[in-house]
Amino acid sequence: MTRNDDLLRRSLAAVWHPCTQMKQHATATESLPLVPVASGKGVWLYDFDGRRYLDGISSWWVNLFGHANPRINAALREQLDELEHVILAGFTHRPVVELSERLAALTGDRLGHCFYASDGASATEIALKMSFHSWQNRGLSDKQDFVCLANSYHGETVGALAVTDVALFRDAYAPLIRPAAIVASPDARQARDGETAVDVARRAAGELEAHLEQCHRTTAALIVEPLIQCASGMAMYDPEYLRLARQICDRFDVHLICDEIAVGCGRTGTFFAHQQAGIAPDFLCLSKGISGGYLPLSIVMTTDAVYSAFYDDATARGFLHSHSYTGNALACRAALATLDIFVNDAVIETNRRLAGWLAECLRPLGRHPRVRHLRQRGMIAAFDVLGDDPHFSRRFYRSALAHEVLLRPIGNTIYFMPPYVISEDECAFLVDRAGIALDEALA
Ligand SMILES: *Cc1c(COP(=O)(O)O)cnc(C)c1O
Repeated sequence: MTRNDDLLRRSLAAVWHPCTQMKQHATATESLPLVPVASGKGVWLYDFDGRRYLDGISSWWVNLFGHANPRINAALREQLDELEHVILAGFTHRPVVELSERLAALTGDRLGHCFYASDGASATEIALKMSFHSWQNRGLSDKQDFVCLANSYHGETVGALAVTDVALFRDAYAPLIRPAAIVASPDARQARDGETAVDVARRAAGELEAHLEQCHRTTAALIVEPLIQCASGMAMYDPEYLRLARQICDRFDVHLICDEIAVGCGRTGTFFAHQQAGIAPDFLCLSKGISGGYLPLSIVMTTDAVYSAFYDDATARGFLHSHSYTGNALACRAALATLDIFVNDAVIETNRRLAGWLAECLRPLGRHPRVRHLRQRGMIAAFDVLGDDPHFSRRFYRSALAHEVLLRPIGNTIYFMPPYVISEDECAFLVDRAGIALDEALA
């Protein structure tokens, strides 16, 4: 038995893989391959036989600067010899302080208070709890409800599912969930004849306004994924929606939570996606790319106004929430090394050129007779494939792997979210192989 086969056999016996019907890995026909990974370098993943895969989705949107990045590796080695982890209640350490200061500076010091957890879903939970509790502390005890957008995704823990509108993830657990109100998504693909993306954004904002006119007294916060609703199929929308949502939330005393777990850290062309609307949220959730894709780390950043609602002599008025690994020193150090790369390599500027190249590579695919809605913002590009084959995404995924690229469609949407260290040649390779896989999957 090869080392690949041995690992696969043991994994199927002992590991319950996420977001997976395990039986699909086990059956021989129409099966989904489980892929063994021995090592990674840059945009490439390698198995034990030296087979390679170009990581076109940044390992579930987390990796920014490639696998085994020498600079992040060096920072982590140094940190390992200083401090791996310490309790953050009553204690503090250099990486967590420095990271909080640097992130606050990136928001123009408008979000000067950082609260730490490990996963994105925990950041969502924290933002919801903090918003609710801050209104309680301010005497507005009826503000207990939340609003999210149609097709939103904010994580899969029970609280986060309340603001997640993806049936596949939510329906099985419906009885456990206290659902949020759902208002229209500004998804630009919903444009009617003659409408622009801005028109769609205004129409959706009108629905939000109508909802809050009715429900503002009981609403604590609106939560949005700025510019791109990633998990429901890379639905992109105009920044106008964020501008209007900010105004509407201000008018009705409702918090605006920006979940930038996926779209933050330069993915959309600015360090934070909400910056493209010239607004600031009351809460900003970060995770995924913030540690360079190295370690679980999530952060909720908030304003002086929210922070001061908890600042009191009474313990119960404090934000009494914690996770064991909150503010983990290694994870924070990986994040600092990641921020260093942004500065040293002028990543936001460099990515502008790279995003232009990705667009150029994709242009021919946009003319494919089965392709619709080719769209891109920064380093995220996507298109929809016409057809009603329920197995399309699985077929495409398998074909792509056979052609050395890791791309994982969401339904009929094929998307590209590569690490920022991808070269022009690798980018062309990725798109070229995607085209081949597309024709194979449609054949
Ligand atoms: C991935 C994601 C989450 C959840 O993060 P996890 O680390 O997977 O819990 C929440 N919100 C958005 C927008 C995401 O893309």
